[in-house]
Amino acid sequence: MNILVVNAGSSSLKYQLIDMNTEKPLAKGTAERIGIKNSVLTHKVPGREPVVIEKKMKDHKDAISLMIKALTDSKTGVIASMDEISAVGHRVVHGGESFARSVLIDETVIRAIEKNAELAPLHNPANLMGIRACQNVMPEAKMAAVFDTAFHQSMPEVAYLYAIPYEMYQEKKIRKYGFHGSSHRYVALKAAEMLNRPIEELKLINCHIGNGSSVCAIKYGKSVDTSMGMTPLEGLIMGTRCGDLDPAIIQHIMNSYKMTINEVMDVLNKKSGFLGLSQYSSDNRDIMKAAQAGNKQCQIAVDALEYQLRKYIGAYAAAMDGVDAIIFTAGIGENSPELRTNVIGGLSFLGAAIDEEKNLLREDNMDISAESSRVRVLRIATNEELMIARDTLELISK
Ligand code: ADP
Repeated sequence: MNILVVNAGSSSLKYQLIDMNTEKPLAKGTAERIGIKNSVLTHKVPGREPVVIEKKMKDHKDAISLMIKALTDSKTGVIASMDEISAVGHRVVHGGESFARSVLIDETVIRAIEKNAELAPLHNPANLMGIRACQNVMPEAKMAAVFDTAFHQSMPEVAYLYAIPYEMYQEKKIRKYGFHGSSHRYVALKAAEMLNRPIEELKLINCHIGNGSSVCAIKYGKSVDTSMGMTPLEGLIMGTRCGDLDPAIIQHIMNSYKMTINEVMDVLNKKSGFLGLSQYSSDNRDIMKAAQAGNKQCQIAVDALEYQLRKYIGAYAAAMDGVDAIIFTAGIGENSPELRTNVIGGLSFLGAAIDEEKNLLREDNMDISAESSRVRVLRIATNEELMIARDTLELISK
């Protein structure tokens, strides 16, 4: 049984066709520059050379059609026809308070996703374009929506309310939602499996550190707090996002630099974080290289992220009154032993210690704690697509 996972952005569309018997991808790819000149689809099948198809894609419908063609083509394909796709799982960024779990898509669900676009104006409309395009090209297919926010709907009020007038929450749903839900959920389940303990008795802190980053406190299998907020801007320093900030700074920047609110938001979303602090790059590998070569600002950017991570881990250990395991995942979390060493090195008060030899090994999923460590330290390769596919399969099997 094969599940197709679709992640539609405003001008891009990523896909993975996953064989659910093995839980491995048969093929994956990305359509880029949809609706813009020089649109291109890159299609990858494990063990074969990637195929690059340069073809005009005027909208998401064209992208889905081209993807289907690549998947079923006698040369590039991995299936004989669309009949071999059992269902489609769509990543949807914002489920607001409407969705605490994944759902099969119908018109009511589509309307709720449209409504939640108020909270995610950049993401939800793009996700909807992907859904509509699939409905168009594959009208018979069952489809599910899997929300980045859903996993965090279990947060208590004390964690999700901002201390602004309560009617703003009641009327406009202004509150913390949190993101990266599929990643945090996948990693928590994998951690329980690796620790060989029921998730219902574990207190986990998951650090998803990539271009976008968030920390999540997962108590007994449920998210109880997370660092991203109403939008993905809150929390840790990220590639280009500022993370936590005194809100009064916004007015001060507007006045000092004669900027409009949109210009300031653009600075905070796209020109801050690693890029802003280092004045060099938003990419961790560039920054680390430059820091090692003596670039002070790059060093500060890296140090600041590690410092923030220690603060969040300390806070979430307090929020859960304990922690059994600290987990690192995503681009930086999985691939930077230096970050893991420096973060865990400052958490001796929790009894956390790393095994430096294991920390350097390149396996996907590893317990990298020192034998003496009171807290397990794990490195886990996240797999959001598989989580989406598993949810989709469960929904169509009901
Ligand atoms: P996204 O949030 O876009 O999914 P990723 O999870 O892919 O991002 O993370 C991208 C980040 O991971 C980049 O900053 C990149 O430099 C960093 N990264 C990737 N590989 C390595 C590596 N081997 N060592 C250090 N950092 C890495």
